[in-house]
Amino acid sequence: MATRRQPFRILDIEVAPGARDATALPAAQLYTHTRLNIPLQVVHGRQDGPVLLLTAAIHGDELNGVEIIRRVLRERGLNRLRGTLVAVPVVNVFGFIHRSRYLPDRRDLNRCFPGSEKGSLGSRIADLFSREVLAHCTHLVDLHTGAIHRSNLPQIRAKVDDPAVAEMARAFGLPVILGSPPLDGSLRHMADTLGVPAVVYESGEALRFDEQGIRAGVRGCLGVLRHLGMLPPSRREPRSDWEPFVARSSQWIRAEQDGVFRPHVGLGAHVAQGDLLGVIGSPEGEGEVDIHAPAAGVLVGRNNIPLVNEGEALFHIARFDELGEVARGIEDFHTGMLEDPRESEPPVV
Ligand SMILES: [Zn+2]
Repeated sequence: MATRRQPFRILDIEVAPGARDATALPAAQLYTHTRLNIPLQVVHGRQDGPVLLLTAAIHGDELNGVEIIRRVLRERGLNRLRGTLVAVPVVNVFGFIHRSRYLPDRRDLNRCFPGSEKGSLGSRIADLFSREVLAHCTHLVDLHTGAIHRSNLPQIRAKVDDPAVAEMARAFGLPVILGSPPLDGSLRHMADTLGVPAVVYESGEALRFDEQGIRAGVRGCLGVLRHLGMLPPSRREPRSDWEPFVARSSQWIRAEQDGVFRPHVGLGAHVAQGDLLGVIGSPEGEGEVDIHAPAAGVLVGRNNIPLVNEGEALFHIARFDELGEVARGIEDFHTGMLEDPRESEPPVV
């Protein structure tokens, strides 16, 4: 006879099998002594399984992930969840309420891990989050966008030489994966240290909702839940032979002078070595400098603001072995994403 599953205990709540509950991690206080809490939702399935942590807005102005988590939590399939879903839609609550990437002391919370009890504000939040939340979880998907004025093509960043991580990355279902080790101090690095397989999803731009990136993110999270056996396999996902493209390397192309920047290629574009990517000149059109692709690749990130300083990152190019196929894969993916008849939410336009 199967024994009944234990309740899930996290912070101050105890969630019974088949139930859902919400609580918050007391992160800090404002000057007014108002408590500033990191909200957290738990869906505890009736049957045993992994504990997947979904996080967003660890950079407080990266909003696509907040909406992705809202939509994932509304999925009806979660009624039949195996295992446990822990969702934290706003990790950096300070940054979120100030529409900022950073904490009030200008620190980047995603560079503060593992943190310490006696350290800076960021260090204390990182330490608390690691001990009280991440340590209770077996897998992590961390949702990001590009920084302010920069947008990213939907992509997964993952340590692809780790088989468990590579499988999660593949399950996300995007055409493009950037194989990259986790950055020191990041939540993904902390997860890696704890032996928690983790992937980062990047899509869109800070302070903006992007429907394609949101849909791709929702679909990706559900793909990971299915891959982990937490949701039943979908009858409508037939692509078992499908493989994403993994970038061999990537590089940022930086501005060689200050001025007004006019880009000529968009996200997802396939460029050959030497192709003209854009121009920087004076406001009157003097002293124009062309920007050429230093190597063939696919554009996975781009600066969107026309005013640039020397050294500023303009284009992020990823290099693949099968460039033409990658570009076609991205095009098919985007067309499919916007025409998906399964979508129940009215789109953000
Ligand atoms: Zn970010």
